Amino acid sequence: MSKIKVSELFYSLQGEGQYVGVPSVFLRTFGCNFTCSGFGMPRGQFSTERNRVDPNAYNDYRDLPLVSTGCDSYASWDPKFKHLSPLMEVSTIVEKIKELLPDGTFGGDKHLIITGGEPLLGWQRSYPELIQACMDIGLTHLTFETNGTQELKDELKEYLNHMATTSGLEVNFSISSKLPCSGEKWEDAIVPDVVKNYLTIKGNRSYFKFVVSTTEDVSDARRAQAEYEAAGIKIPVYLMPVGGVNSVYEMNERQVADYCRDNGLRFSPRIQVPLFKNAWGT
Ligand code: SF4
Repeated sequence: MSKIKVSELFYSLQGEGQYVGVPSVFLRTFGCNFTCSGFGMPRGQFSTERNRVDPNAYNDYRDLPLVSTGCDSYASWDPKFKHLSPLMEVSTIVEKIKELLPDGTFGGDKHLIITGGEPLLGWQRSYPELIQACMDIGLTHLTFETNGTQELKDELKEYLNHMATTSGLEVNFSISSKLPCSGEKWEDAIVPDVVKNYLTIKGNRSYFKFVVSTTEDVSDARRAQAEYEAAGIKIPVYLMPVGGVNSVYEMNERQVADYCRDNGLRFSPRIQVPLFKNAWGT
């Protein structure tokens, strides 16, 4: 029986990227290879906001405070908060998914989003069992929200390709490569060979989603796009405004939208921020 360490499991609307607005189950796995402490900070500085959250004061993920700088899902990878992310049997996860879905199935047009943390870091062996059980209750669309640095293991790749070919499962990778504004190093974050491997899944409609706030970030996004294209990767590119809280999000939403319109790139909102205040579980 496979297990996954689960930070959050909830049903909401996809807030970002190609499938914005689609009703979806979100499985947020625990663990990430990055910390992205640079988000929302002046370049070269790192947020310490999450360090001020006392992990012992919380027993429920949904009660955690939001942060306006650094990674907004800090509790999905910071070991201090690991007690809030239980290691769950896949069968238990699937039972909870059934409870979350309005009619107990993925029928109609509901997607499964496996996110993180970094969902391809630690749990790849458990995904075939999970995906199979979800397909048994009607799943047809699956998205991995990844930072694009973790190799897709052969076993999972073969399984996904088999399901895409024999059962028409659509498998997408929403690849949010981290630019220097995240605080991560370019050479660790932009890894074309890893991304190329994701795109071998049959029928995938994967895309890049770069988080930006300044013109420098936008230049970095264009540089990353060029680096990927030089490696033969040509998939849709979305720019998305930084901001886990309304005050930050609203500051640069319009500028990013204008840039996308004027330069022929796709704009991704983050509808969970204005709609749901980006609360945990939304
Ligand atoms: S890659 Fe994503 S989950 Fe990991 S630290 Fe960065 S923003 Fe957070």
